[in-house]
Amino acid sequence: MSTSKTPAEKVSVDKAPAGEPRPIREGENLLEVENLGKHFPVTAGLLRRQVAAVKAVDGVSFSVRKGETLGLVGESGCGKSTTGRMIMRLLDPSFGKITFEGQDITKMSQRRLRPLRRDLQMIFQDPYSSLNPRKTVGAIVGAPFRLQNLEAEQGVKKAVQEILELVGLNPEHYNRYPHEFSGGQRQRIGIARTLALKPKLIIADEPVSALDVSVQAQVVNLLEDLQDELDLTYVVIAHDLSVVRHISDRVAVMYLGKIVELADRTDLYERPMHPYTNALLSAVPIPDPAQRGERKRIRLQGDVPSPLDPPPACRFHTRCWKAQDICKQVEPPLVELSPGHQAACHFPENTTVSATDAVAKAAVAPGAAAAGDAGSASAADSAE
Ligand code: SF4
Repeated sequence: MSTSKTPAEKVSVDKAPAGEPRPIREGENLLEVENLGKHFPVTAGLLRRQVAAVKAVDGVSFSVRKGETLGLVGESGCGKSTTGRMIMRLLDPSFGKITFEGQDITKMSQRRLRPLRRDLQMIFQDPYSSLNPRKTVGAIVGAPFRLQNLEAEQGVKKAVQEILELVGLNPEHYNRYPHEFSGGQRQRIGIARTLALKPKLIIADEPVSALDVSVQAQVVNLLEDLQDELDLTYVVIAHDLSVVRHISDRVAVMYLGKIVELADRTDLYERPMHPYTNALLSAVPIPDPAQRGERKRIRLQGDVPSPLDPPPACRFHTRCWKAQDICKQVEPPLVELSPGHQAACHFPENTTVSATDAVAKAAVAPGAAAAGDAGSASAADSAE
């Protein structure tokens, strides 16, 4: 098998005005995450008593439809990688629920999870440290077959060579070692390992951030080609908004452990509602010098607060230029402010509806509204 386009034919991620918007995929949900959270205990003293907790993820909810790509973006430390690792069950959630293909996997034992590992795979950020330098490419890409006891069933060498070809590597590289490859080729080896068992859902954690810009576009295009060819579903975790815009169907923006905005890609990039999203987008470089003067850069003041002691109510209020008293007292729920576009803000931009209005409307017409997270309900309660 081979990919449908050569790298030379493909677009650069830097230029990513994202081409033609892809049609919204309306299929059933492959993954559902409800009010998911991870609090890491901080201990002290001889008895290692818990004295505090780092609230890395604090109640996020979203779903991913079959065949779509959901981008998860935010600054370092916002909890996006922790969310990905909880979905993979590499970390146990502190609370919340993860449903994959209709099965609740939140507390499933590792033994019961084992067959599901075929369907749920992860691409790691660093192509240098994620591959064992002492193993050949054949052993690395063939490892999932051995872990699942599928060697005899599949004919591992032939299967591995087919996958290497699929990701644009030479099947004759089977006996080579990782140090013999460039960064982009190593990431292709990592992707080949991920694809070995034909997964349904791939969590890609910063899949191109460790690569040179010139190689990033090749790997992003490869992921898109593979998605079309193998009907894959992706959750792409990244801090680079150009990459996320290029590859995603929908985008969720995280800040300090919470999702603050979630929308269709085009809607989010062209009509951001949350001030934080607006600030992030204002910092994205514009390739066309003629358009640079038209956009105003929003410079956020101060650092991201500590997840040990996040600000009360709206967590963004310490850096938000629109903050008012209510923002410090009442947590804005994540609710749908226009069709398919959710934001958690009392004074959102590009809309006349606020989160409070949407909650009030939902209360008057039950069932007509809030597509927000499970945390919304408690926030709405506290708003009353
Ligand atoms: Fe800013 Fe208030 Fe909206 Fe928070 S709720 S983002 S502080 S305007």
